[in-house]
Parts: sequence; C-alpha cells; structure tokens
Amino acid sequence: MSAPNKSYDPVEVEALKPEQIERMRDEALAAFAAADSLDALHEAKVAHTGPASPLALANREIGALPPHAKADAGKRVGMARGAVNKALAARQSELEAERDARVLVEEAVDVTLPYDRVPAGARHPLTTMMERVADVFVSMGYEIAEGPEAEAEWFNFDALNIAPDHPARTMQDTFFVEGGKGEDSGVVLRTHTSPVQIRSLLDREPPVYVVCPGRVYRTDELDATHTPVFHQIELLAVDEGLTMADLKGTLDHMVQSLFGADMKTRLRPNYFPFTEPSAEMDMLCYVCKGTSVGDPDRPCRTCSSEGWIELGGCGMVNPRVLTACGVDPEKYSGFAFGFGIERMLMFRHNVEDMRDMVEGDVRFTRPFGMEI
Ligand SMILES: [Zn+2]
Repeated sequence: MSAPNKSYDPVEVEALKPEQIERMRDEALAAFAAADSLDALHEAKVAHTGPASPLALANREIGALPPHAKADAGKRVGMARGAVNKALAARQSELEAERDARVLVEEAVDVTLPYDRVPAGARHPLTTMMERVADVFVSMGYEIAEGPEAEAEWFNFDALNIAPDHPARTMQDTFFVEGGKGEDSGVVLRTHTSPVQIRSLLDREPPVYVVCPGRVYRTDELDATHTPVFHQIELLAVDEGLTMADLKGTLDHMVQSLFGADMKTRLRPNYFPFTEPSAEMDMLCYVCKGTSVGDPDRPCRTCSSEGWIELGGCGMVNPRVLTACGVDPEKYSGFAFGFGIERMLMFRHNVEDMRDMVEGDVRFTRPFGMEI
C-alpha cells in the first residue's frame, strides 16, 4: 500500500493537464455547435456532460490529488464545465426557438380554407319546411297520416265528390298508371294529398284530426313556377259541432306559429268539389303586414304590394264526402285545408325558380342550414 505522494504534480495526471481540459471543453463546444436538432444536442449533452464524459472523469481525478493541487485543478475543471454548461444552455434555447418557429409554420392553419372539407350534409328545405308545418299541428294534437302515391282513382277523385264526368277531373292533369290500360286503369299518381283524408276517415272513427304531408303529381312541364312532382300538406278535422270559425282559428294559429304572433288570415269564396262552402285562404304579408297597400313609396316585393299572400284552399268537408266514408253528416262536420310546400318555400325564402328545388344542387340547399 503506497503512501500519498507529497510531491505529486497535477500536471502529471494526464486528464488534468490544462491543455487536456481545454481540449475537452473545445470538443464539447464544437459538438454543441454542430448539433442541428434537439435530439443531436441531447446526444452531445450526454457525451460531454454526462457521468461518463471526459470532464466528469477528469473531475473525479481531482479527489485523488494532494490538497495543494486540488484548488488549481478544481478551478480549471470547474471553469471548463461552466463554459460547457453555458454553451449547452445557449444552444438548447437556440434550437428550441428554431423548433418553435418551424412548428408555427408547419402547423399554421389557413383560416380562409373551406371549413367543411367533409360536409355533414343537410336535409332538403322542402323536407324541413313540411315537417315544420306538420309540427304545428302535432303540437295541437293532430296525428300525421300517410298514404300511397300510386292511388286508386276512387280515392283520388270519386270519394272526393269528383265523379268521372266531373269537370274537376280535367282541371287536374293526371298521370295514369298500370301498364297500357291508360285512363281506364283505375290507378293514378295522386294529384293531391286529399285521398289520404278519405283513407283516414275510413280507418278511424270520428273524431278525426289528421295532417297529411306528401308528394303529389301533375302532368306539368318543369319550369320556373311548375313541377310535375311537388309537395302538399293537408289537414282534416272531423268532429261534432265543427264550424268555419274553428277552421279560421286553426289557420290563424298556423300562420302565427310559422310567421309571427301578429299574423292573420282571410278567406275568399271559392269552389272545390270536396268542400262546401269552400274558400281561398290568404295570409297577411309577413314582410309589410299590409302597409305597402296604396303606398307607392314603400313597395313590397313579397306580396306585390297587395298586403296578402295567397296560401291555399280550404272549406267545410262536403257532406257527400263524409257519406262516402261512412260518416254521418247529420252528426259530424269537418273542415279541411291544404297548400303547396314549394309555394310557401318560394315566398318565405325568396326562391324565384322552382327548378332550383328539384335539381339537387347543394349550393341551393346549404344556405338553408341544418335543422333537426
Ligand atoms: Zn308585403
């Protein structure tokens, strides 16, 4: 066992020679400067400041030096380590700043890009409009009724007091189906939703309160104001003691629910075979509320300054219709009304061309938004 070497000179310990310490320091600084990423810097950090790094090993040698040599060697190693740590921290923050700048560029969001590159889709405004109207009546206790679109002629015409020789049959340009049998086939594409009323009356015992939304067909050419396939919503109420006043109140409630609390309707005499008396129903113009009438300075485009908008037909159910459905007209009375959904969509949303509704272009549908 050897005694401590009193004349031990630290320069003789290879790792603690000043030029060696400087070399270690310079190698570390060069490695940090050469590191071009945080990962590379981490490797350089482990190699040059970790427990197995040359400077750490040199530091460990100090402990073996005689006391008088310790301070000198300690100072050299300490200064080198300080410089190395300082350079490491500087390079670290430099590389972090570079990374942050790169992330900002790479992960930048272009807010002008379309937000819905995977569009969620939207329902057609005809569907949402029809459901919105039907909801008004469902909330009043009405039941939604549906029927076939290929309908027996008897339901579409005869039961509604439109006999084969009735002029009303020619008023509605009808698609006849069932092969080549033509007009004698007995089956038509329904020209209105009224046959659903007949089916409802046959299916149920009065009182009957039904609302019938659906698709109907006429042999019209497709143009800005006509389409061979369109949508109607009809309403039928049959109960004891129903009068025109109930009809009027129901219509008023509907337009108030759809267009605002200060809305109202008016009835004008008309003729339909299945109602007696019959009326044309108008609603107050929801834009000008009638104030554009006689005021040339404030014309209204929605109602053409007439103050009223024509909505559809209505009336008290003809007793002959009740009889055809097995309902006693002496005991029960009823009212009905119906109107076209396309027309309501046109004036409610300023749609000028009916073809837009059937062409399936999402640019038309999308502005109506998504309604559940
Ligand atoms: Zn108006």
